[in-house]
Amino acid sequence: MGKNVFRMENMPGEMKDIVSLAKRRGFVFPSSEIYGGVEALWDYGPLGAALKNNIRREWLKTFVQKMENVELLDASVLMHPKVWEASGHVEHFSDPMVDCKNCKSRLRADHLDSNQCPECGGKEFTEARQFNLMFSTFLGPVQDEGHRTYLRPEAAQSMFADFRLVQEAMRQKLPFGIAQVGKAFRNEITTGNFIFRSREFDIAEIEFFVKPGEDEQWFDYWVDQWEAFFLSLGLRKENLRRYEHPKEALSHYSKRTVDLEYKFPFGWKEIAGIANRTDYDLKRHAEFSGQDLSFYDEETKEKVVPYVVEPTLGLERALLAILCDAYEEVKGGRTETTEAAKEKEVVLRLAPRLAPVQVAVYPLVRNKPELVEKAREVFGSFQKDFWCRYDETGSIGRRYRRGDEIGVPLSITVDFDSLKGEDVTVRDRDTMKQERVAITQLGDVINKRLSI
Ligand SMILES: [Zn+2]
Repeated sequence: MGKNVFRMENMPGEMKDIVSLAKRRGFVFPSSEIYGGVEALWDYGPLGAALKNNIRREWLKTFVQKMENVELLDASVLMHPKVWEASGHVEHFSDPMVDCKNCKSRLRADHLDSNQCPECGGKEFTEARQFNLMFSTFLGPVQDEGHRTYLRPEAAQSMFADFRLVQEAMRQKLPFGIAQVGKAFRNEITTGNFIFRSREFDIAEIEFFVKPGEDEQWFDYWVDQWEAFFLSLGLRKENLRRYEHPKEALSHYSKRTVDLEYKFPFGWKEIAGIANRTDYDLKRHAEFSGQDLSFYDEETKEKVVPYVVEPTLGLERALLAILCDAYEEVKGGRTETTEAAKEKEVVLRLAPRLAPVQVAVYPLVRNKPELVEKAREVFGSFQKDFWCRYDETGSIGRRYRRGDEIGVPLSITVDFDSLKGEDVTVRDRDTMKQERVAITQLGDVINKRLSI
């Protein structure tokens, strides 16, 4: 546990800066930090929680709200134990592990290069054994094999198990999808790279049910949709690429898998994937449950077991990619004033609609009650529509930079002219342009900026 959960020593410099910003400004904390933290478990602080929530909201809007044939589900994390037998997870969801005979470290056998323990340099290991990555627990007070179940390692299985319930309740026809976003758990052996590989994470998945024979074209469609989603979140095209899994390396259920990879400071890594799961899951659940999970096609008067195309992504990985993509350091600062000239400045160029703080409101100085009162009034009038933050401490330049560092797209400053003219200064994070806007027009200006 504990010791140095950030594992910064092997990180590229830029990554260290992002990790330290994330902790300092309340995006991500180690879980149970007062006890030294726990590896691969993280807490999303005030800004991280808001950012993650904004990514989730965009995802729901794009794939559920705007799509007539995708239905939302929010299923339980714990399920009937048979689900995990049918899915193949009890049998297949494992990594080969060895123990170092010297220091007792448990290591991934397939990650051991040079046959040397990375912890102590030892060269003697136990025989490789399969270690299941699911967290196991018991349903009810009796802790025996008959009551064992697992925390779900993916959200997919409940969408297969509820396939017919959703289809009938919503009177959907093929093709249609079930979408779900929620917690999943994997007892990862190899951790590190900050929040990239976490033992508890939010997964956003769609199971898209199609007629057999139409699966390949729908697969291509979902790869395009998924990639477009990441681009819409502001990721740069050159930092995103597709990786086609070679046939021989496919999961037991998959006919084809394409990953979307992001160019993190620590290398190209998977942030999302699209798999053609064929009719594997529905057939297995039909077999294990004894229920008919086929779909009756009114047109052809035939029963078919649908094929499933599954696009999936991890919210935390998306969040990390977004942070890395948005992070920019400006040596010497962006402003010409003497105060800022020597400092390093950080600008987090988040897509405005994802920003955890959308609008900051500042009185020019805090020792003039009439300015504070006016600024408070402006702040109060926008709080219900936007994520606003009020800040009165420090010089105005310092407050702008504090806002830039967490990606606040728009800052509103209330000054002495505001008291007379009922207008304020609006400053844009990216251009640093300042313009005078009538308070009555502010809502429109903010809405326009946040639509990006
Ligand atoms: Zn060792």
